[in-house]
Amino acid sequence: MRYVVTAGPTQEPIDPVRYISNRSSGRMGYAIAEAAARAGHAVTLISGRVHLDAPPTTTLIPVTTTEEMFSAVAEQTQNADVLVMCAAVADYRPAQVSERKIKKTSDHLTLELVRTRDIIGSLPPDRNFVVVGFAAETNDVENYARKKLRDKNLDLMVANDVSRSDIGMESAENEVTIYFRDGTTKQIARTSKQNIARELVKIISNMKKNV
Ligand code: C5P
Repeated sequence: MRYVVTAGPTQEPIDPVRYISNRSSGRMGYAIAEAAARAGHAVTLISGRVHLDAPPTTTLIPVTTTEEMFSAVAEQTQNADVLVMCAAVADYRPAQVSERKIKKTSDHLTLELVRTRDIIGSLPPDRNFVVVGFAAETNDVENYARKKLRDKNLDLMVANDVSRSDIGMESAENEVTIYFRDGTTKQIARTSKQNIARELVKIISNMKKNV
């Protein structure tokens, strides 16, 4: 099977030296890319800027902004079987990018932000590949996860609670609940992101048959 995995944060420039981003380390996405490659799948890893090496045998496509990630996903999913959207895509970007470095000339500075493009939401409705989304929430994890599964027309939603400092963003471990379209769930108890990735790849690879 051909896997396309997105990982890491997107960065939205403010001026030539500053940007808006988030704390995603990319570890979960890289672990999924590695697990899929080890399981014998062809893997393209579309990654925001992170401090990780691409896993062996995967093809790395580095991107910076949400728009770049959107273009790479649109291109790479043309003949994909699975898209795993593990990237922590920025929700907002500055409305204007200053060509010059903004100087500290006043005590207050207001940035106007606009919504970024929804990458999953921009996928063609008649897509014929499995789409796996991730939800990083600080509260009401189950409600938000079920809503996103429906609203974003996903095949699988993997949710974790990022209010906990021992799992999730920046951590080596995670604990996730997987929500399926038929309303069933599966929990993977706290373990390394590598173990979670292996479990997920097994589940995703079996799903292909149902698409
Ligand atoms: O709504 P939220 O950002 O929490 O949704 C998370 C899921 O949607 C993730 O799989 C993420 O990669 C994806 N996403 C996206 N485009 C965006 C924002 C998030 O595809 N602009």
